[in-house]
Amino acid sequence: MAPLTCLELGRFNTLGLKSQAARAVRFTDRSQLPALTQLAAQHGPAFVLGGGSNIVLEAQLQRLLIKVETRGVRLIHEDEQHWLVEAEAGENWHDFVRYCLKEGWWGLENLALIPGTVGAAPVQNIGAYGIELDQRLHSVLAWNLTEGRLVEMEGNDCGFAYRDSLFKRAPLGRWLIVAVRFRLPRPWNPVLEYPDLRKHPRICGRDAGGVAVTADDVFEAVCEIRRSKLPDPAVLSNAGSFFKNPIVPAAQYQSLVQRFPSLVAYPANHVSPGHAASAHYKLAAGWLIDQCGWKGKRLGPVGVHERQALVLVNYGGATAEDIRSLSQAIRQDVYDRFGVLLEQEPVAVA
Ligand SMILES: Cc1cc2nc3c(=O)[nH]c(=O)nc-3n(C[C@H](O)[C@H](O)[C@H](O)COP(=O)(O)OP(=O)(O)OC[C@H]3O[C@@H](n4cnc5c(N)ncnc54)[C@H](O)[C@@H]3O)c2cc1C
Repeated sequence: MAPLTCLELGRFNTLGLKSQAARAVRFTDRSQLPALTQLAAQHGPAFVLGGGSNIVLEAQLQRLLIKVETRGVRLIHEDEQHWLVEAEAGENWHDFVRYCLKEGWWGLENLALIPGTVGAAPVQNIGAYGIELDQRLHSVLAWNLTEGRLVEMEGNDCGFAYRDSLFKRAPLGRWLIVAVRFRLPRPWNPVLEYPDLRKHPRICGRDAGGVAVTADDVFEAVCEIRRSKLPDPAVLSNAGSFFKNPIVPAAQYQSLVQRFPSLVAYPANHVSPGHAASAHYKLAAGWLIDQCGWKGKRLGPVGVHERQALVLVNYGGATAEDIRSLSQAIRQDVYDRFGVLLEQEPVAVA
């Protein structure tokens, strides 16, 4: 086991917050797992860090920090219907999606260019452009850091919901996802419901010419749309969507749409566990924030992106407190105007 070190985290979180972990260890091999449990017992609860693209870090981390750096991708099984592919948690997500396509295993192309690691993908059940991870997940291999045991969970056991899972709901530091298995459907059936994707020249051009859309087309189109819409954290520090799209009961949606006819909302596929999906609507949080006049506004070193009201950005030198103040002001305004509480998507880590 590598020794504990002090680690500066500024370049390991896409919001660019200055932060220091007094006790950090690199996880590079499964054989380290029992020792990690011992360290967590000795030094208090751990925080498991992937690519740092969905976190808000305090300046000083009291927790033991475990930085996931394991690598490896393999085809476990294939038949006429599926490919079963396993990837280690520390693999970069986008590189993994691209690697699968190169091998001819399609199915993840709609999730291209999402920052972060494979191991973090189940934590908030990442989703984009008409696909959520649970639709392609076979199982998760996770180490229970507090009990010191390895557990294999199938998709149904992971409590997946919209940007949520049992891993996200559990106390920080309980689970270390070691590897993820994907069940990729072999019959080619592109997912093109998302309007921006359907209208993209690579997709509608193919359709119009009577040529079948390929997985590479979808991959390239998704990358181009994302690059045109979202700020690149390497250029402008951000954590992607800062708020979840709120899910409300149909009655609340009806009353809102009467008062605000241009309200942007969709029937919800996924709701919190225990709620019926059909009776709920997902409201576009970006629209709610934009209506409150926040798009492009700045509060000290932080602000709301000028094209994406859902994205909070750090112009340089911001702290977690700056982000909290801005997010609290936005949440208050949205609540006052629409009676809807916005929920933060990135995980707050102290
Ligand atoms: C520009 C931008 C665009 C984005 N677009 C999307 C999008 O379209 N859809 C979407 O769903 N998300 C999006 N995100 C959010 C983010 O990319 C995902 O949540 C991603 O899965 C986070 O991965 P990470 O490795 O960076 O996780 P981190 O930020 O390092 O960690 C996030 C959480 O996961 C936990 N975690 C990380 N690795 C593990 C592990 N191996 N085991 C257990 N727990 C772990 C951490 O403890 C933490 O609680 C975007 C972010 C950015 C910056």
